[in-house]
Amino acid sequence: MKRWNGWGDETVEYPLPGSAAKYLNSIVGSGAHIEDCTLDQALKTIPKSRLPASHYFTTEPEDRLRHARGQSLPDWIALHSNRIGCYPDGVAYPTRTEEVQEILSFAQKNRVRVIPYGGGSSVVGHINPLTGEPPVLTVDLSRLNRVLEVDPTSQTAVCEAGILGPELESQLNQQGFTFGHFPQSFEYSSLGGWIATRSCGQQSYHYGRIEDHFLGGHLETFSGHLDLPVFPASAAGPDLKHLVLGSEGRMGILTQATVRVFALPESETFRAIFFPDWESGVSAVREISQSDVRVSMLRLSDPIETETTLVLSGKDILVGWARRGLGWIGIGKERCLLVYGVTGSRPEAARAAHQVVSISTRHHGFPVDFFIGNMWRKSRFLTPYLRNTLWEYGYALDTLETAMPWKNVGSAACTIRDALREGLANQGEQVLAFVHLSHIYQTGASFYVTYLFRRCKDPEACLERWWTLKDLASRLILEMGGTISHQHGVGQDHAQYLPSEKGTLGIRLIQSAFDVFDPDGLLNPGKLVCSPSREVHHELIGQSPGILG
Ligand SMILES: Cc1cc2nc3c(=O)[nH]c(=O)nc-3n(C[C@H](O)[C@H](O)[C@H](O)COP(=O)(O)OP(=O)(O)OC[C@H]3O[C@@H](n4cnc5c(N)ncnc54)[C@H](O)[C@@H]3O)c2cc1C
Repeated sequence: MKRWNGWGDETVEYPLPGSAAKYLNSIVGSGAHIEDCTLDQALKTIPKSRLPASHYFTTEPEDRLRHARGQSLPDWIALHSNRIGCYPDGVAYPTRTEEVQEILSFAQKNRVRVIPYGGGSSVVGHINPLTGEPPVLTVDLSRLNRVLEVDPTSQTAVCEAGILGPELESQLNQQGFTFGHFPQSFEYSSLGGWIATRSCGQQSYHYGRIEDHFLGGHLETFSGHLDLPVFPASAAGPDLKHLVLGSEGRMGILTQATVRVFALPESETFRAIFFPDWESGVSAVREISQSDVRVSMLRLSDPIETETTLVLSGKDILVGWARRGLGWIGIGKERCLLVYGVTGSRPEAARAAHQVVSISTRHHGFPVDFFIGNMWRKSRFLTPYLRNTLWEYGYALDTLETAMPWKNVGSAACTIRDALREGLANQGEQVLAFVHLSHIYQTGASFYVTYLFRRCKDPEACLERWWTLKDLASRLILEMGGTISHQHGVGQDHAQYLPSEKGTLGIRLIQSAFDVFDPDGLLNPGKLVCSPSREVHHELIGQSPGILG
């Protein structure tokens, strides 16, 4: 079963190696043991549902609790301290498009706010109910989970939108295809959620972003349904798919999507190269991206992330040898690890790997081949479980991301990382912050910053620490010409920064699309275009009973 207040399956643990605990202690200090709320305690404080009785949904407290929050750090703070503030009043689990239609009619008739829910893996507050009237109904789409049709000739598949990553891959793999979309949240995120948030998978360099996959579909809205027909390409005016992509549940509920699929690759491997420093690594990765090399993934870690990855592997003896060996060839403390993937036919994959090595060597890179690449592959969906362990050790961990042109990206990544590191200095706290280039394009790249700080006993103080860092980084991202999100979307936590990217007219245009599909403002209100995140979180936390109820 899925954890109610953390990441992933309850039976999966990611223990912290002893050397990693020491490493964290030496950088940010020891974490305190903080008592968290139990499931029983949390269930006791859920207010009565405000929905009229109906067979369309359940009002069971546990369903409502399990759909109250996603995976952002404010969500974790709220769940662990029982300062959730606001719950859905009911949860519906439709199994057919017609049921979704009926649920929307019920909601419209009874003036009920509706939150579409895929896997609940949002990290920016997409699926959180907000305070106020009218009551809130969360529509969990996990039972719309079938691949309905695969067209092997056109290489497309019609899928129900609530299908989660593993189920989608398994149903397609049985027919010799892959979808090729592997966000790190793959286990617990859905096709509809990926489309509604403009998600990006780890091998996007080969398979494309979700907007490259999404060809058409069926959207149920308060103003009727919108069918998006499938064409290989079209010049028939603005493409309405792009309104649905990134609409974050504000325009309607996507029940079906037609997507592009790929024949299962003959070969797929992940390999690694060490660079002596960040600048050489960035130059090599840029050259690869501009030389039409057919890699599927390029992920370049800065020196701190490289060191943290080695320490977290728990393979101390091997890592010791690797450090000494790399030192002998002049790759010292500033070393940066590039993990790259090659996917395709065997000759194509071999050619791509050869080109990567040849370009990297010119930039002083040293290939170490499969061992580290395999380690990365094995733990690619396991790493998020570490956040559960770190939380218990008294550490809060969060991530943020952006994309910008090549001319800024290398230095901006370091500036933002360093600002975060010093971001709590006035409270006498050190932050561990590191960064990697994650998705690479011909014209620029995205980078992904991970930051870790000590939790405080007082959840409001912990939230304030998070807010200080989040706001600092978000402002810097905008100042340096980055987008407020390359892949996580806007939700609640990025909404206040969106106008500086879209402009006043742009925001009005987005709002006017919402008004057409949702004239009464009942679909996931307060997300994407909304009020400041800090105020919303503090309001919710302030109204809550806390652990003891
Ligand atoms: C550990 C972890 C790792 C992550 N890694 C990545 C990553 O590598 N790449 C990446 O892009 N993101 C990543 N994310 C973020 C998150 O997984 C994505 O935003 C994902 O696309 C959300 O999908 P979901 O099904 O969980 O959607 P939810 O969280 O349930 O919903 C997200 C938004 O989509 C809307 N929505 C969901 N389904 C529908 C539907 N059928 N119709 C209309 N609206 C809908 C919801 O209303 C909401 O606004 C990660 C998150 C976590 C916790």
